[in-house]
Amino acid sequence: MAWNTIDNMDLQGKTVLVRVDINVPVEDGKVTDDTRIRRIAPTIADILAAGGKPVLLAHFGRPKGKHVPEMSLQPLVPALEATFGVPVAFCADCRGPAAMAAVGALAEGSVLLLENTRFQPGEEKNDPALAAEMAALGDVYCNDAFSAAHRAHVSTEALAQALPSCAGRLMQAELEALEAALGQPQRPVVAVVGGAKVSSKLELLGNLVEKVDHLVIGGGMANTFLAAQGIDVGKSLCEHDMTDTAAEILAKADKIGCSILLPSDIVVAWEFKAGAANETVAADACPADAMILDAGPDTVSRIAGVLATAKTLIWNGPMGAFEITPFDAATNAAAQTAAELTQTGQLISVAGGGDTVAALNQAGAADRFTYISTAGGAFLEWMEGKTLPGVAALEN
Ligand code: ADP
Ligand code: MG
Repeated sequence: MAWNTIDNMDLQGKTVLVRVDINVPVEDGKVTDDTRIRRIAPTIADILAAGGKPVLLAHFGRPKGKHVPEMSLQPLVPALEATFGVPVAFCADCRGPAAMAAVGALAEGSVLLLENTRFQPGEEKNDPALAAEMAALGDVYCNDAFSAAHRAHVSTEALAQALPSCAGRLMQAELEALEAALGQPQRPVVAVVGGAKVSSKLELLGNLVEKVDHLVIGGGMANTFLAAQGIDVGKSLCEHDMTDTAAEILAKADKIGCSILLPSDIVVAWEFKAGAANETVAADACPADAMILDAGPDTVSRIAGVLATAKTLIWNGPMGAFEITPFDAATNAAAQTAAELTQTGQLISVAGGGDTVAALNQAGAADRFTYISTAGGAFLEWMEGKTLPGVAALEN
């Protein structure tokens, strides 16, 4: 993979169309979490420092090609100005004469925010006519929205084809982390996969089995794998119609030489609630009236053993029902081990997924990982081995 960065583009005096993800939570017209805005700030600062004029393109919500006033980007202007520390102008369109005029009037050292690209029916259709019109607004295209890169839209794909293009800092960091984790990883590579269901992560498991040396399976989906081995999982979350598929994954792993680590002991409870009475038993000893909510300490130490031999870790999905204590124990322990090995320089650790990021934050381990992807769907599609149109379009 090869793509341009801000460093190898000539941006002096150029108008740079920057695709960003600023789909931030807003309540009563105020931004309540500016994480996504802070993460794109380095890109904006570097474009300004290189003499470029940043024009931001972004979506907000799902207006489905219609002008929905509640999904305007305008309320974000104060938060953008506060984070970037420069004036941010707004234009109520992202195409046509108004957008042209706003770009023409953009002063050096300022940023322009164009209205929600998804107000345009052509955006999600990757419409060439819209692409041509929007490309005419700028000289260079910079994509800093990895989280939208699994969509082939005008603002993520067609513009990269139409203009000289580069990756923004956030996109660059994400691509470098992902490349280090699965592209050209240092081996052995361990994948930790957990979460609720096998069915939502089938493609992911299939791809990982081919690429990693060890696959740790935890969380609710491990129950389906236990059931596939003829183990009674009682009232646990389990997809009984997926046991054949789980068995196929195990067989494929065996054939390829990918070792699989399933829970050897489990924490069971009779109620799905915080502080519920629980017992730790062997993986094949779940009482008929109980459910498996976490992996046990023996499993945790086996996971730690595998991590200690690994050079690279890729993680998606919690090891248990981490939202309710004490069933966050296995997730927390594995997260701590990974964080410590990362800090001593033994491990490159990359994690992503909505609940995974929440779980690693809750464990207090997230900031000691090498990279935490907040990209959600795009991260999962990349873990599934899919080509992301927004990334492919950036490639030279
Ligand atoms: P991500 O969002 O990171 O991709 P998932 O959505 O696949 O992760 O999985 C997270 C969910 O899995 C959490 O809500 C968690 O409570 C649930 N989960 C994990 N282990 C179990 C279990 N043993 N029983 C029931 N739910 C579980
Ligand atoms: Mg989830």
